[in-house]
Formats: sequence, C-alpha cells, structure tokens
Amino acid sequence: MTQHADVVVVGGGQAGLAAGYHLRRQGLDFMILDADPAPGGSWQHMWDSLHLFSPAEHSSLPGRLMPAQAGETYPDAGHVVDYLADYEKRYDLPVQHNTRVNAVRRDGDRLLVEADTGTWRARAVISATGTWSRPFLPTIPGRSTFAGRQLHTVNYRSPADCTDQHVIVVGGGNSGAQIAADLALDSRVEVTWVTQRPPRFLADDIDGRALFDVATARRRALDSGRSDTDGVASLGDIVAVPAVRSARNAGLLAAKPMFTALTEDGVQWADGTRARAATVVWCTGFRPALSHLAPLGLRGRRGHIATHGTRAADEPRLHLLGYGDWTGPASATLIGVGRPARDAVREIAALG
Ligand code: FAD
Repeated sequence: MTQHADVVVVGGGQAGLAAGYHLRRQGLDFMILDADPAPGGSWQHMWDSLHLFSPAEHSSLPGRLMPAQAGETYPDAGHVVDYLADYEKRYDLPVQHNTRVNAVRRDGDRLLVEADTGTWRARAVISATGTWSRPFLPTIPGRSTFAGRQLHTVNYRSPADCTDQHVIVVGGGNSGAQIAADLALDSRVEVTWVTQRPPRFLADDIDGRALFDVATARRRALDSGRSDTDGVASLGDIVAVPAVRSARNAGLLAAKPMFTALTEDGVQWADGTRARAATVVWCTGFRPALSHLAPLGLRGRRGHIATHGTRAADEPRLHLLGYGDWTGPASATLIGVGRPARDAVREIAALG
C-alpha cells in the first residue's frame, strides 16, 4: 500500500536530522527513512578512538548545542552518536529505521520513493544518504594479488586487530593521520604511513572551526561573484587532534611517499624497494551514495548530480544534502549542514 508524505528524507544521519529539524519548524508533513537499525548515521560505525576535529559547541546541529564531553576538548564518535540519538528524540523526528530506499522515481506531479518496507508518494525528496556506504579504493597494480588483509577506513576498528603486524596506512587526510596515529601509539604494532604528497598539518591552534569559517567565506565569495579564495586547501588538511599531535611530536607520524604497487606479501616503491606487510588500511575517501536516485537519470560531474545549492538542477522536487561542498560549504560537517538544510526546506515549502 502506498503511503503519502509531503516530504520524504532519505537518510537519518546528521544531514537528515538537520533537514527534519527545519521541516518540523516549517510545519510540513514528512518522513525520514534510514537504513541503519539505530540513530547516529555513520558515526555509529566509526573506529573506537575517532575524535571530532572541532570542539563540541562547534559541532552542533541547528537548535541544539552539542554538550561538552567530560575531559575531552574534541568529543569521540560515541558522544556524537548519543547527541544524534538525543536530537532525534528531542525534536520528535519521525525516523523509520531499518528502511533502505532502493529507488526514487517520477510519478506525475509526485516523486515515488520505493523502500524495502513500502512505497511513499511525496511532493519533494531530500536525499541525505552520505558517503560512508561508498568507500573509494584507488586502482593500484597488484591490489588483487596481495595476500594480506585490506581494510578501508570504514572497517578499521582498533590496533587490537593488528597486534604483532606491520600495517601500511594509505592516505594524507584526517582519517589517514588519525588511524596512523592510533596504530603508531600502540607498541604492539609496526606502522608505515604513506601519502601521495607530504602531509599538511594545520597549525596546532587551528581546528575544524577555522575550516568551517574558511569554507563559508569561500562560498560567500563564489556566490557574490568575487574570486575564489581557495578555501581550506591553502590551510592544510590535517587537524592536530590530541592523538595526532602526540604521535607527531613523538616522531611517529613521518609519512613516506606512496608505493607504486602491491606485491603478494607487501608493497613496492618506484625505486624498487619493498616492504612486507600483513595489512593495508586504505584511508582514501568516499563517493556519494546516490544509487537510489538512478531512475531519475540525473547527471553531474565526477559522480555528483548537478545542483543549484541543494536543489537538483534537473529535478526541482529533489534536494541533496550533506555530501560535501558541492551541496553547500562544509555541508558534510555537523556545524556546516544546518544552513543548507534550512535553505533546502525553505525552497520546498515555497514549491507549493
Ligand atoms: P551519514 O552520517 O553517513 O548518514 C547517512 C545515513 O543515510 C545513514 O544512517 C545511512 O544508513 C542512511 N542511508 C544511506 N543510504 C540509504 C538508503 N538508500 N536508504 C535509506 N537510508 C540510507 N564531520 C564533522 O562535522 N566533524 C568531524 O570531526 C568529522 N570527522 C570525520 C572523520 C571521518 C573519518 C569521516 C569519515 C567523516 C568525518 N566527518 C566529520 C564528516 C561526517 O562524519 C560525515 O560527513 C557525516 O557523517 C555525514 O553525515 P550524513 O548525514 O550526510 O551521512
């Protein structure tokens, strides 16, 4: 039996909840469909020692400051999960968990949202499915012949899984640095960190707050036709959260250049040197999870969908939220998703 809602939000992570907050304020009838069994979005799947790169009060969704975590300047992933679960309850957001959306289709003046638990007809859809379910693995010779274990950020949990091993961590972003530090600070593990270019640490007094401010200034400059301010690219990539700082200051976080191939028992560099390894952890990023939108036939560059702000350029009843700067400056962060969520809901309310 087909159900009806003014708006269906696909995804109940931070982006979907921020949309829900604004839909509630606009008095619209909506439903949030989320594939996970519990609140927290991807935060509930992240590794044990992961910490935010911004302090709690700078990692808040609209309407509710994230409370500080006792003893932690930068809260851990478990604290974020608790905050999101509380947020869902506090604003009485209608999230239906354990509900995977498989397809969104046009259906006359409505959009049809086909989920594994039923079908919804909606005036508008907000897609907030994140990237966690689309880990990116680069094409490197030998990847299929390497006999060791290959993990991605999404399946790394803790050094305890790598005891007495040589582990190679690939990637010069925050995930790579935090996982390399996590392993390097554990004496039971030998770790080699490799990056495509020398890692760029932000100054110790710069954290996610500055990244958000710079990303916003860039968007404002672009929106008002001023020249590109280059955004955070000029600042660096890695926030020196406590574990990264300790490992770096102990000289345990020196990166080597990226290897050129995997061998059966390890890796090989361009100069022919080799190293044996039991595990490779690919901290090589993600792609947006958009397969449910395929029936709409929307196209954009690099696997994105062409948008004006959050609105799909070729389907005005569809908004995309939380996927990265292409859907709003810093919109893939807790503090950055609130504004594009508000703007998307205002546009939907005005659709009439
Ligand atoms: P997600 O949190 O991934 O939530 C998407 C939800 O959609 C999930 O619940 C999923 O089950 C659901 N879903 C997916 N597909 C479907 C479907 N077809 N049908 C129904 N439901 C579906 N951000 C910060 O603000 N501060 C940080 O310090 C920070 N550190 C980070 C560290 C790492 C290692 C990573 C990977 C990211 C970090 N981020 C940080 C970014 C932030 O965690 C993510 O970008 C954020 O989780 C995105 O939120 P989201 O709601 O868009 O997606």
